[in-house]
Amino acid sequence: MKINKNYENLEQSYLFSTVAKKVNEFTAKNPDKKVIRLGIGDVTLPLCKAVIGAMHKAVDEMGVQATFRGYGPEQGYDFLREAVKKYYLSHGVELELDEIFISDGAKSDLGNILDLFSQDNTVLVPDPVYPVYVDTNIMAGRKVVFADANGENCFLPLPDKGVKADIIYICSPNNPTGAAYNKEQLKKWVDYARELGAVILFDAAYECFIDDNSLPHSIYEIEGAKECAIEFCSLSKMAGFTGTRCGYTIVPKALGKLNKMWLRRQTTKFNGVPYIVQRAAEAVFTEDGQKEIKENLNYYKENAKLISETLKRCNIWHVGGKYSPYIWLKCPNNMTSWEFFDYLLENAQVVGTPGSGFGKNGEGYFRLTSFGSKENTREAMERFEKLFM
Ligand code: PLP
Repeated sequence: MKINKNYENLEQSYLFSTVAKKVNEFTAKNPDKKVIRLGIGDVTLPLCKAVIGAMHKAVDEMGVQATFRGYGPEQGYDFLREAVKKYYLSHGVELELDEIFISDGAKSDLGNILDLFSQDNTVLVPDPVYPVYVDTNIMAGRKVVFADANGENCFLPLPDKGVKADIIYICSPNNPTGAAYNKEQLKKWVDYARELGAVILFDAAYECFIDDNSLPHSIYEIEGAKECAIEFCSLSKMAGFTGTRCGYTIVPKALGKLNKMWLRRQTTKFNGVPYIVQRAAEAVFTEDGQKEIKENLNYYKENAKLISETLKRCNIWHVGGKYSPYIWLKCPNNMTSWEFFDYLLENAQVVGTPGSGFGKNGEGYFRLTSFGSKENTREAMERFEKLFM
């Protein structure tokens, strides 16, 4: 037996374990001080009523012979794919049903899709970004190059014609920066990919935080994108499905063989998302579901707005917050990400995530999230004002 040696090339991530260790040490020394966590990347509000109702109904169906369901279609039930199709239409994107694949979340498919690509492809990944893109490619032994996101480009890098890549990752709105591309900027990426014959893997996990149509929700709103892009989306942040698990992946037929290859891959290695979960997901796209999830999204967005307004008053440079649950700030006084983490914990008892954990360009930056409670977010921002104004 020979192991996959590529795993030895993965960098160990101590980000969240170090955060937890530092917070535990602080609370052990200061048991009377209330620590507020604005580092969480998970939702906190419960599933909405429409979803819970649909889930209960589906559970009952599973207990009756006439409505019991066993294995479902690997690519998802038609009722959910129809709902996703309609959702895309609301953003002006027309899809065929067999271009839509229901998944158990974006993370799995972002990793699984790499089955379709040769090992000798070069991969272009923005830095900083969600670490899964880099790690899944390192595991497969692919060469990774980076597109630098920084203060100068407002954390929205554009293609560099001098860089050649075969697989290009774009995450918009971005984790961790919250920065989101407009249509003109995305068009530049689409043109670049088509020129190179490259594929874009577009992660739209946070598209639901865009609440107007000034920015694209989907890369397919850009002309030519169906010829070069696969899109991943998720109900995790959209509807609080982080623990329920459901998402969808779009592989357009205009991409040629890739659509059929993905179907083959899924029918071979995947047996579908549970019926109960797909019924719950279907409810997200109903009128009631959409109204209810928007209430939850607005709750988070109000937190984000409060954080952003406070940072503005404190003169702290930041991006994000408007179209995402993430606020990405420049650490004051040229502190490193970890120095700022310690400073904030010590002086305000507020916990965030050091930007250096998301790539080399994250050094000197810091991520706050809006997934906390309104009360805690308000209190944390009062402490920011005391410390920085
Ligand atoms: N993509 C991005 C950019 C994320 O930040 C996350 C989760 O934090 C995911 C994908 C994973 O989503 P899912 O829960 O659907 O696997």
